Amino acid sequence: FFKSIQAKGLHYNNSQQDAITHVEGPLLVVAGPGSGKTSVITARAAHLIYKGITPSNILVITFTRAAANEMKSRFKDFPGITQDHYSKTEFGTFHSTFYKILNSYYGRHLPVLDQKKGFSAVKNILKALNEPVDDEIVQNTINDISIVRTSILTTDFKPQSISLSKLKRVLKEYESFKHSVNCIDFDDMMIMCKKVFETDDKALNFYRQKFKYILIDEFQDTNQIQYEIVKMLSHPLNNLCVVGDDDQSIYSFRGGMPDCLINFKKTFSSCKTVILDINYRSTQEIVDFAAKVIINNSSRMSKNLKSLREEGGSPKISFPQNEDLEGAFVADTIEDLKNKGYSYKDFAVLYRTNIQSRHIIDALIKRGIHFNIKDGLNNFYEHWICRDITCYLKLCINGSDAFSLAQIINRPVRYITREITDRVSYLCAKEGYNVFKAFEACGIKEFQNTKIKELSKNIESLKLMRPPAAVNYIRKIIGYDNYIRNYCMESNIDFEQLFDILDEYESSSAGFLNAYEFLSHIHEMSLKLKESTQNKAFIKDSITLSTVHSAKGLEFSNVFLIGAVEGFFPHKKCIKTGEHIDEERRLFYVAVTRAKNNLFICAPQSRNGAKQAASRFLMEASSNQKEPLRHKSFSLNSGDLISHKIFGTGKIMSVKKDLISVLFYNRKGLKDLDIETCVDNKLIEKS
Ligand code: ATP
Ligand code: MG
Repeated sequence: FFKSIQAKGLHYNNSQQDAITHVEGPLLVVAGPGSGKTSVITARAAHLIYKGITPSNILVITFTRAAANEMKSRFKDFPGITQDHYSKTEFGTFHSTFYKILNSYYGRHLPVLDQKKGFSAVKNILKALNEPVDDEIVQNTINDISIVRTSILTTDFKPQSISLSKLKRVLKEYESFKHSVNCIDFDDMMIMCKKVFETDDKALNFYRQKFKYILIDEFQDTNQIQYEIVKMLSHPLNNLCVVGDDDQSIYSFRGGMPDCLINFKKTFSSCKTVILDINYRSTQEIVDFAAKVIINNSSRMSKNLKSLREEGGSPKISFPQNEDLEGAFVADTIEDLKNKGYSYKDFAVLYRTNIQSRHIIDALIKRGIHFNIKDGLNNFYEHWICRDITCYLKLCINGSDAFSLAQIINRPVRYITREITDRVSYLCAKEGYNVFKAFEACGIKEFQNTKIKELSKNIESLKLMRPPAAVNYIRKIIGYDNYIRNYCMESNIDFEQLFDILDEYESSSAGFLNAYEFLSHIHEMSLKLKESTQNKAFIKDSITLSTVHSAKGLEFSNVFLIGAVEGFFPHKKCIKTGEHIDEERRLFYVAVTRAKNNLFICAPQSRNGAKQAASRFLMEASSNQKEPLRHKSFSLNSGDLISHKIFGTGKIMSVKKDLISVLFYNRKGLKDLDIETCVDNKLIEKS
């Protein structure tokens, strides 16, 4: 087997060969990034066939559809793999595999709930229960529902979204919603499959006979129910091979269980364990850099990686003055390296959260650099907050735009009913009226009229302003910021994130002469984004933009990690609670270990005019210690954000001797506190 592979110039090291040639019984491969785990799984599937195993008895499972396709296409290239082998060996994700099983069991195609529809269903249920709703809470609720349904809950399970009792109510409503539309969701695929296997011995035995050899990649992110089914299926032969890296477990918020990996040996006592310790992907400097960060995590399997790669070099960290200069730096460096022989597809720009990609997309569009976005179409300007402000600006340009008017008419509240806006729309369309003339024609009440007159005056003022001033005016004078603050307070949601989006929008409008130019830019951006995801020629040779989560398992010659600053990486929601910092660190580890030759990390000193501090992970990486770095407590200064056990989050307004004045977001007015009592609490962000 290996001779024919060597003839192609590939040489597997001894440990890899050990894993590849293992045939019967359980096998565990634990190893760091770039050590060939995915390569070994693929080669092992080919080796099983070489050993005479029937292709349809082999099931290879990985985390994403794209990864499964990639593996399958590499599998095809192994010597001796025929078209017949290729088409009969099963490569898929947990979901695709279980869904196929279900469809064939029930003899029909079970309709699947569209994820967008599921999202809005949960949103509506939360609203109906008078729960706070913003996109993050809805998403967290969905993740929590998934954990409740697919894991055995421990007593210390705390939902991220709402209280457990409320979550159970939402879950009940959600179940009846699915029932009413006669659809199943992704978790149902697993839940139903498990049930089939538990209740129908014949079916279970059939699939046990079918999938005699099961191979799973990225095992650290497997959740409980997936693991249960796999255990059932592989019993009693236990020809189960799992590979993973506990340091790359980044889905615990969705129920991923790195413990499966750690406990695998206990569950399968006869299991053979292989450790891979050569990194074929990245330079030694990149490997060392990543290692210095990850040693700061507690409870991990320790690993040593040696690199065999020589091109490239040390990670390059830069501190651009602001996010626009960061964008320019990324674009310049890409062009530079492209002139030295790289193609666009050799580059990736990674970020912690989607919102961080806005200015990079801008910079790339300006230079005409082709890109594709891994997480699908992600248009910052489509966020509802951005759409609101855009509607104000649209009204300045087109006074008859009743659609935009309807969007913002009660943001802030102007006591205008739906009947009135419908009538205004009708009059604008039929008579060509300007919206304000249409209001007059409707004959509204005095208190409403006062508000409408004020709005009309404000729109006139806006027309004279440059875009950033206009956006600021909408926020501060028209009162959009206050509206958002009240909305969040009433619904008990954190408004900081929404304000980040408003800041981002405001600063993205700088440099445009008037609203018309800015709106044209937004329009052009959405066209370019569509083009970048649909134009095949672009996709073939284009740089990849991706969140770190979606870049798992991938590799690129040149990687840019942008926004490596406190608040983004680690994300502020983790800094605030102090929880999940280890998971943020693993995420950082995944990000930097995607790079083969060149790793660029940017930590802009400011964003939207506000100063920001470089990520603690960069400090860890630059320390010379081989031991975990302790984070010292900072002294407190005005402008710092702190979290107080009782009062919540607040900003320090002044520091006088031992007294600090803090403006807490959840209460009106300043509060004076003894500095000692605050030191016990947490500093969130330095000013
Ligand atoms: P991750 O943890 O990021 O998923 P991994 O352990 O799955 O990484 P692979 O993606 O399989 O690592 O391999 C990393 C790179 O090293 C790939 O480009 C692969 O082709 C290459 N590689 C793996 N083994 C060898 C080898 N023996 N000789 C040369 N290159 C190898
Ligand atoms: Mg891999």
